[in-house]
Amino acid sequence: MTKNPILHFSKLTLLFLSAFNFAQAQQIFSSNKYPITDFRQPLDITPPALAGSFGEIRGNHFHSGIDFRTNQREGYPVYAVADGYISRLRVQNSGFGQALYINHPNGFTTVYGHLQRFAPKIATVVKNLEYEKKSFEIDEFPDATLIPIHKGDVIAWSGNRGSSGGPHLHFEIRDTKTEETINPQFFGIIIPDNIPPVIHGLYVYRLNGKTFNEFTPKQAIGITGAGGQYKTTAPVSLTGEVGFGIVVTDRHNGLSGTNGVYSIQLELDGKKIYTSALERFAFEDSKAINSHIDYPTYINTKRSIQKSFVDPGNPLKIYSGLVNSGRINFNDGAAHQLRYIITDSKGNSSVLPFTVNAGTAPVAAPTVPAGIIYPYNKVNEFNNEDVKVVFPMGTLYNDLNFSYKKLPKPAGNAWSAIHQIHNRYTPLHIGFDLWIKADNLPENLRSKSLIVNTNGSSQGGSFDNGFVKATPKNFGSFYIATDTIAPRIVPVNIGEGRNMAGLSKMTFKISDNLSGIKSFNGYIDGKWVLMEFDAKTATLWHSFDERTSAGKHSLELVVTDMKENTRHYSVGFSR
Ligand SMILES: [Zn+2]
Repeated sequence: MTKNPILHFSKLTLLFLSAFNFAQAQQIFSSNKYPITDFRQPLDITPPALAGSFGEIRGNHFHSGIDFRTNQREGYPVYAVADGYISRLRVQNSGFGQALYINHPNGFTTVYGHLQRFAPKIATVVKNLEYEKKSFEIDEFPDATLIPIHKGDVIAWSGNRGSSGGPHLHFEIRDTKTEETINPQFFGIIIPDNIPPVIHGLYVYRLNGKTFNEFTPKQAIGITGAGGQYKTTAPVSLTGEVGFGIVVTDRHNGLSGTNGVYSIQLELDGKKIYTSALERFAFEDSKAINSHIDYPTYINTKRSIQKSFVDPGNPLKIYSGLVNSGRINFNDGAAHQLRYIITDSKGNSSVLPFTVNAGTAPVAAPTVPAGIIYPYNKVNEFNNEDVKVVFPMGTLYNDLNFSYKKLPKPAGNAWSAIHQIHNRYTPLHIGFDLWIKADNLPENLRSKSLIVNTNGSSQGGSFDNGFVKATPKNFGSFYIATDTIAPRIVPVNIGEGRNMAGLSKMTFKISDNLSGIKSFNGYIDGKWVLMEFDAKTATLWHSFDERTSAGKHSLELVVTDMKENTRHYSVGFSR
Protein backbone atom coordinates (compact mmCIF):
# COMPACT_ATOMS: atom_id res chain seq x y z
CA MET A 1 0.00 0.00 0.00
CA THR A 2 1.64 3.18 -1.15
CA LYS A 3 -1.11 5.46 0.10
CA ASN A 4 -3.03 4.83 3.25
CA PRO A 5 -5.52 7.54 4.08
CA ILE A 6 -7.19 5.29 6.66
CA LEU A 7 -4.00 5.14 8.71
CA HIS A 8 -3.86 8.89 8.67
CA PHE A 9 -7.53 9.28 9.66
CA SER A 10 -6.97 6.98 12.62
CA LYS A 11 -4.07 9.04 13.90
CA LEU A 12 -6.02 12.20 13.43
CA THR A 13 -9.03 10.67 15.14
CA LEU A 14 -6.99 9.54 18.14
CA LEU A 15 -5.82 13.09 18.55
CA PHE A 16 -9.40 14.28 18.32
CA LEU A 17 -10.52 11.88 20.99
CA SER A 18 -8.08 13.20 23.53
CA ALA A 19 -8.53 16.85 22.68
CA PHE A 20 -11.79 18.58 22.31
CA ASN A 21 -11.35 22.12 23.38
CA PHE A 22 -11.00 24.82 20.79
CA ALA A 23 -7.29 25.55 21.21
CA GLN A 24 -6.27 21.93 20.99
CA ALA A 25 -8.49 21.35 17.97
CA GLN A 26 -6.80 24.30 16.29
CA GLN A 27 -3.47 22.70 17.01
CA ILE A 28 -4.56 19.44 15.38
CA PHE A 29 -5.49 21.22 12.21
CA SER A 30 -2.20 23.08 12.08
CA SER A 31 0.06 20.15 12.96
CA ASN A 32 -1.04 17.83 10.18
CA LYS A 33 1.14 16.40 7.43
CA TYR A 34 0.29 19.12 4.89
CA PRO A 35 2.38 22.27 4.33
CA ILE A 36 0.60 25.20 6.01
CA THR A 37 2.71 28.13 4.87
CA ASP A 38 3.15 27.38 1.15
CA PHE A 39 -0.21 28.67 -0.08
CA ARG A 40 -1.72 32.16 0.03
CA GLN A 41 -5.46 32.87 -0.38
CA PRO A 42 -6.66 32.75 -4.01
CA LEU A 43 -8.77 35.93 -3.59
CA ASP A 44 -8.11 39.28 -1.91
CA ILE A 45 -11.64 39.56 -0.49
CA THR A 46 -11.41 39.92 3.29
CA PRO A 47 -12.43 38.28 5.43
CA PRO A 48 -12.62 35.20 3.18
CA ALA A 49 -16.04 33.54 3.42
CA LEU A 50 -17.36 30.26 2.08
CA ALA A 51 -20.54 29.60 0.15
CA GLY A 52 -19.67 25.90 0.19
CA SER A 53 -17.37 23.79 2.34
CA PHE A 54 -15.15 20.83 1.53
CA GLY A 55 -17.00 17.52 1.46
CA GLU A 56 -20.39 19.16 1.85
CA ILE A 57 -23.27 16.99 0.67
CA ARG A 58 -24.39 17.70 -2.90
CA GLY A 59 -26.51 15.73 -5.36
CA ASN A 60 -24.58 12.54 -6.22
CA HIS A 61 -21.25 13.87 -4.89
CA PHE A 62 -19.31 15.35 -2.02
CA HIS A 63 -18.24 18.91 -2.78
CA SER A 64 -14.66 18.52 -4.00
CA GLY A 65 -13.33 21.90 -2.90
CA ILE A 66 -14.29 25.10 -1.14
CA ASP A 67 -16.46 27.82 -2.70
CA PHE A 68 -15.29 31.34 -1.90
CA ARG A 69 -17.99 33.98 -1.82
CA THR A 70 -17.47 36.87 -4.24
CA ASN A 71 -20.18 39.29 -3.04
CA GLN A 72 -22.66 38.04 -5.69
CA ARG A 73 -20.44 39.56 -8.36
CA GLU A 74 -18.07 38.31 -11.03
CA GLY A 75 -14.69 39.75 -11.94
CA TYR A 76 -12.55 39.54 -8.79
CA PRO A 77 -8.87 38.85 -9.58
CA VAL A 78 -7.88 35.24 -8.87
CA TYR A 79 -4.31 34.77 -7.64
CA ALA A 80 -1.98 31.81 -8.00
CA VAL A 81 -1.60 30.53 -4.44
CA ALA A 82 2.05 29.50 -4.95
CA ASP A 83 4.77 29.14 -7.59
CA GLY A 84 4.28 26.43 -10.21
CA TYR A 85 3.05 26.01 -13.76
CA ILE A 86 -0.30 25.68 -15.52
CA SER A 87 -0.68 21.90 -15.79
CA ARG A 88 -4.21 21.74 -17.17
CA LEU A 89 -6.45 24.09 -19.16
CA ARG A 90 -10.07 23.11 -19.23
CA VAL A 91 -13.11 24.64 -20.94
CA GLN A 92 -16.47 22.87 -20.63
CA ASN A 93 -20.14 23.42 -21.51
CA SER A 94 -20.96 22.65 -17.88
CA GLY A 95 -18.86 21.38 -14.93
CA PHE A 96 -16.26 24.02 -13.99
CA GLY A 97 -16.99 26.02 -17.18
CA GLN A 98 -13.50 27.53 -17.43
CA ALA A 99 -10.87 26.12 -15.08
CA LEU A 100 -7.13 26.34 -14.44
CA TYR A 101 -4.92 23.78 -12.71
CA ILE A 102 -1.49 24.68 -11.30
CA ASN A 103 1.09 22.06 -10.33
CA HIS A 104 3.29 23.16 -7.44
CA PRO A 105 6.74 21.82 -6.56
CA ASN A 106 5.47 20.67 -3.10
CA GLY A 107 3.49 17.83 -4.72
CA PHE A 108 0.06 19.45 -4.74
CA THR A 109 -2.13 20.80 -7.53
CA THR A 110 -4.49 23.75 -7.06
CA VAL A 111 -7.68 24.06 -9.12
CA TYR A 112 -9.67 27.24 -9.85
CA GLY A 113 -13.16 26.79 -11.34
CA HIS A 114 -16.13 28.72 -12.86
CA LEU A 115 -13.73 31.45 -14.05
CA GLN A 116 -15.15 34.40 -15.96
CA ARG A 117 -12.00 34.89 -18.06
CA PHE A 118 -8.35 33.95 -18.05
CA ALA A 119 -5.38 36.33 -17.70
CA PRO A 120 -4.42 37.65 -21.20
CA LYS A 121 -1.43 35.35 -21.75
CA ILE A 122 -3.44 32.26 -20.75
CA ALA A 123 -6.51 33.44 -22.71
CA THR A 124 -4.39 33.65 -25.87
CA VAL A 125 -3.09 30.10 -25.38
CA VAL A 126 -6.63 28.81 -24.80
CA LYS A 127 -8.13 30.58 -27.80
CA ASN A 128 -5.33 29.38 -30.09
CA LEU A 129 -5.94 25.81 -28.90
CA GLU A 130 -9.68 26.18 -29.52
CA TYR A 131 -9.08 27.41 -33.08
CA GLU A 132 -6.48 24.71 -33.69
CA LYS A 133 -8.89 21.97 -32.53
CA LYS A 134 -12.01 23.71 -33.87
CA SER A 135 -13.63 23.04 -30.50
CA PHE A 136 -14.96 25.23 -27.67
CA GLU A 137 -14.47 22.44 -25.13
CA ILE A 138 -10.81 21.69 -24.51
CA ASP A 139 -8.91 19.71 -21.89
CA GLU A 140 -5.17 20.26 -22.34
CA PHE A 141 -2.21 19.29 -20.16
CA PRO A 142 0.65 21.72 -20.97
CA ASP A 143 4.18 20.86 -19.84
CA ALA A 144 6.04 22.90 -17.21
CA THR A 145 7.62 25.27 -19.72
CA LEU A 146 4.52 26.67 -21.48
CA ILE A 147 2.98 28.80 -18.70
CA PRO A 148 5.17 29.14 -15.58
CA ILE A 149 3.38 30.82 -12.67
CA HIS A 150 4.59 32.83 -9.70
CA LYS A 151 2.83 33.07 -6.36
CA GLY A 152 0.46 36.03 -6.44
CA ASP A 153 0.16 36.24 -10.25
CA VAL A 154 -3.35 37.15 -11.41
CA ILE A 155 -4.27 34.06 -13.41
CA ALA A 156 -7.96 34.80 -14.05
CA TRP A 157 -11.07 36.67 -12.89
CA SER A 158 -13.78 34.99 -10.85
CA GLY A 159 -17.03 34.10 -12.58
CA ASN A 160 -20.14 31.95 -12.77
CA ARG A 161 -19.38 29.69 -15.75
CA GLY A 162 -20.36 26.04 -15.98
CA SER A 163 -22.56 24.31 -13.40
CA SER A 164 -22.50 27.21 -10.98
CA GLY A 165 -25.47 28.47 -9.02
CA GLY A 166 -24.17 32.04 -8.63
CA PRO A 167 -20.89 33.95 -8.82
CA HIS A 168 -18.14 32.35 -6.69
CA LEU A 169 -14.67 30.84 -6.93
CA HIS A 170 -14.42 27.06 -6.65
CA PHE A 171 -10.98 26.19 -5.25
CA GLU A 172 -9.37 22.78 -4.73
CA ILE A 173 -6.07 21.38 -3.55
CA ARG A 174 -5.29 17.92 -4.92
CA ASP A 175 -2.52 15.44 -4.38
CA THR A 176 -0.75 15.75 -7.75
CA LYS A 177 0.09 12.03 -7.94
CA THR A 178 -3.17 10.41 -6.80
CA GLU A 179 -5.50 13.27 -7.83
CA GLU A 180 -7.30 12.82 -4.50
CA THR A 181 -8.81 16.11 -3.44
CA ILE A 182 -7.90 17.38 0.04
CA ASN A 183 -9.60 19.81 2.40
CA PRO A 184 -7.83 23.17 1.68
CA GLN A 185 -8.33 24.17 5.32
CA PHE A 186 -5.55 21.70 6.16
CA PHE A 187 -3.13 23.94 4.22
CA GLY A 188 -3.40 27.05 6.32
CA ILE A 189 -6.18 28.53 4.14
CA ILE A 190 -7.94 30.19 7.06
CA ILE A 191 -11.70 30.80 7.00
CA PRO A 192 -12.81 32.66 10.16
CA ASP A 193 -15.28 30.46 12.05
CA ASN A 194 -15.94 29.98 15.75
CA ILE A 195 -19.53 28.76 15.45
CA PRO A 196 -20.04 25.07 16.28
CA PRO A 197 -22.02 22.79 13.93
CA VAL A 198 -25.81 22.65 14.25
CA ILE A 199 -27.51 19.31 14.91
CA HIS A 200 -30.94 19.32 13.27
CA GLY A 201 -32.17 15.76 13.72
CA LEU A 202 -31.46 12.30 15.10
CA TYR A 203 -32.89 9.08 13.67
CA VAL A 204 -32.81 5.40 14.53
CA TYR A 205 -33.08 2.61 11.95
CA ARG A 206 -34.32 -0.86 12.97
CA LEU A 207 -31.82 -3.01 11.09
CA ASN A 208 -32.11 -6.39 12.85
CA GLY A 209 -29.54 -8.10 10.68
CA LYS A 210 -31.06 -6.90 7.44
CA THR A 211 -29.71 -4.87 4.58
CA PHE A 212 -30.52 -1.15 4.73
CA ASN A 213 -33.05 -0.12 2.08
CA GLU A 214 -36.29 1.85 1.61
CA PHE A 215 -38.18 -0.68 3.79
CA THR A 216 -35.92 -0.24 6.84
CA PRO A 217 -38.12 1.16 9.67
CA LYS A 218 -36.96 4.64 10.62
CA GLN A 219 -37.95 6.76 13.61
CA ALA A 220 -37.07 10.33 14.58
CA ILE A 221 -35.74 10.91 18.09
CA GLY A 222 -36.60 14.36 19.47
CA ILE A 223 -33.61 16.57 20.27
CA THR A 224 -33.14 20.07 21.61
CA GLY A 225 -30.17 22.34 22.13
CA ALA A 226 -27.94 25.03 20.63
CA GLY A 227 -24.45 26.45 20.93
CA GLY A 228 -22.70 23.11 20.71
CA GLN A 229 -24.73 21.30 23.44
CA TYR A 230 -27.64 19.07 22.48
CA LYS A 231 -29.77 16.44 24.24
CA THR A 232 -32.72 14.18 23.54
CA THR A 233 -36.13 15.41 24.67
CA ALA A 234 -37.33 12.06 26.09
CA PRO A 235 -35.82 8.76 27.27
CA VAL A 236 -34.91 6.38 24.44
CA SER A 237 -35.71 2.64 24.69
CA LEU A 238 -34.55 0.32 21.94
CA THR A 239 -34.40 -3.42 21.41
CA GLY A 240 -32.55 -5.34 18.72
CA GLU A 241 -29.99 -4.25 16.16
CA VAL A 242 -30.17 -0.60 15.17
CA GLY A 243 -28.18 2.06 13.38
CA PHE A 244 -28.34 5.80 13.92
CA GLY A 245 -28.41 8.73 11.53
CA ILE A 246 -27.95 12.46 12.08
CA VAL A 247 -28.72 15.69 10.21
CA VAL A 248 -26.02 18.31 10.70
CA THR A 249 -24.84 21.54 9.08
CA ASP A 250 -22.20 24.12 9.88
CA ARG A 251 -22.34 27.91 9.92
CA HIS A 252 -19.44 30.30 9.60
CA ASN A 253 -18.97 33.70 11.19
CA GLY A 254 -21.23 36.50 9.98
CA LEU A 255 -23.06 34.44 7.36
CA SER A 256 -26.49 32.90 7.33
CA GLY A 257 -25.69 30.23 4.74
CA THR A 258 -25.10 26.64 5.79
CA ASN A 259 -22.12 24.48 5.00
CA GLY A 260 -21.11 20.90 5.70
CA VAL A 261 -19.30 19.57 8.75
CA TYR A 262 -15.84 17.97 8.86
CA SER A 263 -16.37 14.90 11.02
CA ILE A 264 -19.10 12.85 12.66
CA GLN A 265 -18.23 10.54 15.49
CA LEU A 266 -20.45 8.20 17.51
CA GLU A 267 -19.44 6.69 20.85
CA LEU A 268 -21.09 3.80 22.69
CA ASP A 269 -20.31 3.58 26.41
CA GLY A 270 -17.21 5.72 25.97
CA LYS A 271 -15.81 3.82 22.97
CA LYS A 272 -16.00 5.17 19.47
CA ILE A 273 -17.87 2.89 17.09
CA TYR A 274 -18.13 5.16 14.04
CA THR A 275 -16.11 8.06 12.65
CA SER A 276 -16.42 9.78 9.29
CA ALA A 277 -13.97 12.58 8.49
CA LEU A 278 -13.73 14.53 5.24
CA GLU A 279 -10.01 15.12 5.01
CA ARG A 280 -9.59 13.83 1.43
CA PHE A 281 -11.32 11.58 -1.08
CA ALA A 282 -10.97 10.10 -4.56
CA PHE A 283 -13.30 11.41 -7.26
CA GLU A 284 -14.23 7.87 -8.29
CA ASP A 285 -15.65 7.29 -4.77
CA SER A 286 -17.60 10.54 -4.57
CA LYS A 287 -20.91 9.12 -5.83
CA ALA A 288 -20.94 6.83 -2.78
CA ILE A 289 -22.39 9.83 -0.96
CA ASN A 290 -25.66 8.10 -1.88
CA SER A 291 -24.58 5.20 0.34
CA HIS A 292 -23.30 7.52 3.09
CA ILE A 293 -26.71 9.17 3.40
CA ASP A 294 -30.19 7.65 3.82
CA TYR A 295 -30.83 7.75 0.06
CA PRO A 296 -34.54 6.74 0.09
CA THR A 297 -35.31 9.62 2.48
CA TYR A 298 -33.22 11.99 0.36
CA ILE A 299 -35.20 10.99 -2.77
CA ASN A 300 -38.51 11.51 -0.96
CA THR A 301 -37.80 14.67 1.03
CA LYS A 302 -34.36 16.05 -0.06
CA ARG A 303 -33.33 15.81 3.63
CA SER A 304 -29.76 14.48 4.00
CA ILE A 305 -29.56 12.14 6.99
CA GLN A 306 -25.96 10.94 7.37
CA LYS A 307 -26.05 7.31 8.46
CA SER A 308 -23.68 6.20 11.22
CA PHE A 309 -23.52 2.64 9.87
CA VAL A 310 -21.69 1.74 6.69
CA ASP A 311 -23.03 -0.31 3.78
CA PRO A 312 -20.74 -3.24 2.84
CA GLY A 313 -20.21 -2.03 -0.76
CA ASN A 314 -19.46 1.60 0.20
CA PRO A 315 -15.93 2.30 -1.17
CA LEU A 316 -15.38 5.62 0.67
CA LYS A 317 -12.20 5.83 2.75
CA ILE A 318 -13.58 8.52 5.05
CA TYR A 319 -14.50 6.05 7.82
CA SER A 320 -12.37 4.85 10.69
CA GLY A 321 -12.70 2.98 13.97
CA LEU A 322 -15.85 1.16 12.87
CA VAL A 323 -17.22 -1.44 15.29
CA ASN A 324 -19.67 -3.84 13.60
CA SER A 325 -19.95 -1.30 10.73
CA GLY A 326 -21.58 1.10 13.21
CA ARG A 327 -24.53 -1.27 13.85
CA ILE A 328 -25.44 -1.64 17.57
CA ASN A 329 -27.24 -4.50 19.34
CA PHE A 330 -29.40 -3.47 22.28
CA ASN A 331 -30.39 -6.73 23.99
CA ASP A 332 -28.85 -6.79 27.49
CA GLY A 333 -31.49 -4.86 29.42
CA ALA A 334 -28.91 -2.27 30.51
CA ALA A 335 -28.66 1.51 30.08
CA HIS A 336 -26.08 2.58 27.49
CA GLN A 337 -24.46 5.97 27.05
CA LEU A 338 -24.17 7.21 23.49
CA ARG A 339 -22.57 10.42 22.33
CA TYR A 340 -22.33 12.14 18.96
CA ILE A 341 -19.42 14.53 18.45
CA ILE A 342 -19.69 16.73 15.35
CA THR A 343 -16.71 18.86 14.33
CA ASP A 344 -16.25 21.48 11.62
CA SER A 345 -13.07 22.10 9.58
CA LYS A 346 -11.98 24.79 12.03
CA GLY A 347 -12.18 22.44 15.02
CA ASN A 348 -15.44 23.77 16.54
CA SER A 349 -17.51 20.88 17.88
CA SER A 350 -21.02 20.08 19.05
CA VAL A 351 -22.01 17.15 21.25
CA LEU A 352 -25.21 15.16 21.58
CA PRO A 353 -25.07 12.70 24.48
CA PHE A 354 -28.07 10.41 25.03
CA THR A 355 -29.00 7.29 27.00
CA VAL A 356 -30.53 4.19 25.43
CA ASN A 357 -32.36 1.74 27.70
CA ALA A 358 -31.86 -1.62 26.00
CA GLY A 359 -34.59 -4.26 25.99
CA THR A 360 -34.01 -7.98 26.39
CA ALA A 361 -36.00 -9.50 23.56
CA PRO A 362 -33.93 -11.95 21.53
CA VAL A 363 -32.55 -10.52 18.31
CA ALA A 364 -34.63 -11.77 15.44
CA ALA A 365 -32.76 -13.90 12.92
CA PRO A 366 -32.50 -12.13 9.59
CA THR A 367 -35.29 -13.25 7.29
CA VAL A 368 -34.51 -13.59 3.62
CA PRO A 369 -37.08 -11.69 1.60
CA ALA A 370 -38.78 -13.25 -1.42
CA GLY A 371 -37.33 -12.33 -4.79
CA ILE A 372 -33.96 -12.49 -6.49
CA ILE A 373 -31.07 -11.54 -4.20
CA TYR A 374 -28.12 -9.96 -6.00
CA PRO A 375 -24.98 -9.90 -3.83
CA TYR A 376 -23.24 -6.50 -3.78
CA ASN A 377 -19.82 -8.12 -4.33
CA LYS A 378 -20.68 -10.10 -7.49
CA VAL A 379 -21.45 -9.43 -11.13
CA ASN A 380 -25.21 -9.94 -11.42
CA GLU A 381 -27.32 -10.58 -14.49
CA PHE A 382 -31.04 -10.69 -15.20
CA ASN A 383 -32.60 -11.59 -18.51
CA ASN A 384 -35.71 -12.71 -20.29
CA GLU A 385 -36.67 -12.64 -23.97
CA ASP A 386 -37.38 -8.86 -23.91
CA VAL A 387 -34.66 -7.48 -21.72
CA LYS A 388 -31.17 -8.11 -20.42
CA VAL A 389 -29.58 -6.36 -17.43
CA VAL A 390 -25.98 -6.71 -16.24
CA PHE A 391 -24.74 -5.12 -13.02
CA PRO A 392 -20.94 -4.92 -13.16
CA MET A 393 -18.89 -5.43 -10.01
CA GLY A 394 -19.01 -2.29 -7.89
CA THR A 395 -22.52 -1.21 -8.95
CA LEU A 396 -24.30 -2.00 -5.67
CA TYR A 397 -23.62 -0.81 -2.10
CA ASN A 398 -25.82 -3.50 -0.53
CA ASP A 399 -27.26 -6.87 -1.46
CA LEU A 400 -30.30 -6.18 -3.59
CA ASN A 401 -33.69 -7.87 -3.50
CA PHE A 402 -34.15 -7.20 -7.22
CA SER A 403 -37.58 -6.59 -8.71
CA TYR A 404 -38.60 -6.45 -12.36
CA LYS A 405 -41.90 -5.77 -14.08
CA LYS A 406 -42.99 -5.45 -17.69
CA LEU A 407 -45.58 -2.74 -18.36
CA PRO A 408 -47.51 -1.98 -21.57
CA LYS A 409 -45.86 -0.03 -24.38
CA PRO A 410 -46.64 3.68 -23.99
CA ALA A 411 -48.53 5.57 -26.69
CA GLY A 412 -46.62 7.73 -29.17
CA ASN A 413 -42.87 7.59 -29.72
CA ALA A 414 -42.21 4.16 -28.22
CA TRP A 415 -40.74 1.02 -29.76
CA SER A 416 -40.88 -1.38 -26.82
CA ALA A 417 -42.78 -2.21 -23.66
CA ILE A 418 -41.81 -0.35 -20.46
CA HIS A 419 -39.36 -2.34 -18.41
CA GLN A 420 -39.39 -1.46 -14.73
CA ILE A 421 -35.85 -2.19 -13.50
CA HIS A 422 -36.10 -2.20 -9.70
CA ASN A 423 -36.91 1.24 -8.22
CA ARG A 424 -35.38 4.68 -7.82
CA TYR A 425 -34.81 4.35 -4.04
CA THR A 426 -31.74 2.15 -4.46
CA PRO A 427 -28.58 4.10 -5.33
CA LEU A 428 -26.00 2.77 -7.80
CA HIS A 429 -22.29 3.57 -7.79
CA ILE A 430 -21.76 3.08 -11.53
CA GLY A 431 -24.07 2.54 -14.48
CA PHE A 432 -25.52 -0.86 -15.40
CA ASP A 433 -25.86 -2.33 -18.89
CA LEU A 434 -29.40 -2.54 -20.19
CA TRP A 435 -30.58 -4.14 -23.44
CA ILE A 436 -34.24 -3.75 -24.44
CA LYS A 437 -35.68 -5.71 -27.39
CA ALA A 438 -37.06 -3.44 -30.11
CA ASP A 439 -40.67 -3.98 -31.17
CA ASN A 440 -41.35 -3.30 -34.89
CA LEU A 441 -38.65 -0.63 -35.07
CA PRO A 442 -38.29 0.25 -38.79
CA GLU A 443 -34.81 -0.21 -40.19
CA ASN A 444 -34.48 3.48 -41.10
CA LEU A 445 -35.07 4.45 -37.44
CA ARG A 446 -32.49 2.09 -35.93
CA SER A 447 -29.75 4.71 -35.91
CA LYS A 448 -32.18 7.17 -34.24
CA SER A 449 -33.13 4.82 -31.40
CA LEU A 450 -32.26 5.30 -27.74
CA ILE A 451 -33.54 4.33 -24.31
CA VAL A 452 -35.71 6.74 -22.34
CA ASN A 453 -36.58 6.74 -18.65
CA THR A 454 -40.34 7.28 -18.08
CA ASN A 455 -39.31 10.46 -16.21
CA GLY A 456 -38.42 11.78 -19.71
CA SER A 457 -34.63 11.64 -19.54
CA SER A 458 -32.66 10.13 -22.42
CA GLN A 459 -30.26 7.37 -21.40
CA GLY A 460 -28.58 7.43 -24.82
CA GLY A 461 -27.90 4.08 -26.40
CA SER A 462 -27.52 2.41 -29.72
CA PHE A 463 -29.12 -0.36 -31.78
CA ASP A 464 -27.47 -3.73 -31.22
CA ASN A 465 -28.75 -6.86 -33.00
CA GLY A 466 -32.50 -6.39 -32.42
CA PHE A 467 -32.00 -4.67 -29.07
CA VAL A 468 -31.18 -1.12 -28.00
CA LYS A 469 -28.40 -0.97 -25.44
CA ALA A 470 -27.67 1.84 -22.94
CA THR A 471 -25.96 2.27 -19.57
CA PRO A 472 -28.37 4.02 -17.18
CA LYS A 473 -26.90 5.43 -13.97
CA ASN A 474 -30.09 4.98 -11.95
CA PHE A 475 -32.81 2.38 -11.67
CA GLY A 476 -36.13 3.29 -13.24
CA SER A 477 -38.69 2.38 -15.89
CA PHE A 478 -37.28 2.31 -19.40
CA TYR A 479 -38.44 1.96 -23.01
CA ILE A 480 -37.10 2.51 -26.52
CA ALA A 481 -37.83 5.82 -28.28
CA THR A 482 -36.38 7.58 -31.30
CA ASP A 483 -35.03 11.06 -31.80
CA THR A 484 -35.58 12.31 -35.36
CA ILE A 485 -35.95 15.99 -34.50
CA ALA A 486 -33.04 18.37 -35.01
CA PRO A 487 -32.03 20.85 -32.25
CA ARG A 488 -33.70 24.28 -32.06
CA ILE A 489 -31.70 27.44 -32.74
CA VAL A 490 -33.22 30.74 -31.57
CA PRO A 491 -31.27 33.89 -32.51
CA VAL A 492 -31.30 36.43 -29.66
CA ASN A 493 -29.67 39.57 -31.06
CA ILE A 494 -29.10 38.83 -34.74
CA GLY A 495 -31.39 38.84 -37.78
CA GLU A 496 -31.03 38.94 -41.57
CA GLY A 497 -29.10 42.02 -42.71
CA ARG A 498 -28.64 43.37 -39.20
CA ASN A 499 -25.79 45.80 -38.52
CA MET A 500 -23.89 44.33 -35.55
CA ALA A 501 -21.43 47.22 -35.24
CA GLY A 502 -21.17 48.28 -31.61
CA LEU A 503 -22.19 44.84 -30.35
CA SER A 504 -19.47 42.72 -28.78
CA LYS A 505 -21.13 39.39 -29.54
CA MET A 506 -23.95 37.56 -31.28
CA THR A 507 -26.08 35.35 -29.09
CA PHE A 508 -28.39 32.33 -29.56
CA LYS A 509 -30.37 29.90 -27.45
CA ILE A 510 -30.04 26.26 -28.50
CA SER A 511 -31.83 23.18 -27.21
CA ASP A 512 -32.68 19.61 -28.16
CA ASN A 513 -35.92 17.71 -27.57
CA LEU A 514 -34.52 14.36 -26.41
CA SER A 515 -31.02 12.98 -27.06
CA GLY A 516 -29.17 16.20 -26.21
CA ILE A 517 -26.75 18.49 -28.06
CA LYS A 518 -23.62 16.77 -29.31
CA SER A 519 -21.90 19.56 -31.21
CA PHE A 520 -22.21 23.15 -32.42
CA ASN A 521 -20.10 24.88 -35.05
CA GLY A 522 -20.20 28.44 -36.36
CA TYR A 523 -18.69 29.67 -39.64
CA ILE A 524 -18.23 33.31 -40.66
CA ASP A 525 -17.67 33.63 -44.42
CA GLY A 526 -17.02 29.88 -44.48
CA LYS A 527 -14.31 29.95 -41.78
CA TRP A 528 -14.77 28.19 -38.41
CA VAL A 529 -15.18 30.64 -35.53
CA LEU A 530 -15.30 30.05 -31.80
CA MET A 531 -18.84 29.68 -30.43
CA GLU A 532 -18.96 29.56 -26.63
CA PHE A 533 -21.69 27.65 -24.79
CA ASP A 534 -23.17 27.72 -21.31
CA ALA A 535 -25.34 24.62 -20.80
CA LYS A 536 -27.17 25.88 -17.70
CA THR A 537 -28.64 28.84 -19.62
CA ALA A 538 -28.65 27.08 -23.05
CA THR A 539 -26.81 30.16 -24.34
CA LEU A 540 -24.47 30.01 -27.34
CA TRP A 541 -22.47 33.05 -28.40
CA HIS A 542 -19.62 34.32 -30.54
CA SER A 543 -17.53 37.26 -29.34
CA PHE A 544 -16.39 39.35 -32.29
CA ASP A 545 -12.64 39.82 -32.59
CA GLU A 546 -10.07 40.94 -35.17
CA ARG A 547 -11.00 37.91 -37.31
CA THR A 548 -14.19 39.70 -38.41
CA SER A 549 -13.45 43.03 -40.14
CA ALA A 550 -15.91 45.86 -40.80
CA GLY A 551 -18.29 45.18 -43.72
CA LYS A 552 -20.75 42.51 -44.85
CA HIS A 553 -20.46 38.90 -43.66
CA SER A 554 -22.38 35.65 -43.62
CA LEU A 555 -22.78 33.37 -40.62
CA GLU A 556 -23.67 29.71 -40.74
CA LEU A 557 -24.48 27.87 -37.52
CA VAL A 558 -24.70 24.05 -37.42
CA VAL A 559 -26.04 22.29 -34.32
CA THR A 560 -26.23 18.48 -34.13
CA ASP A 561 -27.79 16.19 -31.52
CA MET A 562 -26.58 12.82 -30.20
CA LYS A 563 -28.63 11.03 -32.90
CA GLU A 564 -27.04 13.04 -35.74
CA ASN A 565 -30.06 15.24 -36.42
CA THR A 566 -28.66 18.56 -37.67
CA ARG A 567 -30.09 22.09 -37.75
CA HIS A 568 -28.58 24.79 -39.97
CA TYR A 569 -29.08 28.52 -39.47
CA SER A 570 -27.72 31.07 -41.94
CA VAL A 571 -27.79 34.83 -41.75
CA GLY A 572 -26.13 37.80 -43.39
CA PHE A 573 -24.94 40.66 -41.16
CA SER A 574 -22.56 43.60 -41.21
CA ARG A 575 -20.14 45.06 -38.72
ZN1 LIG B 1 -17.54 24.42 -5.72
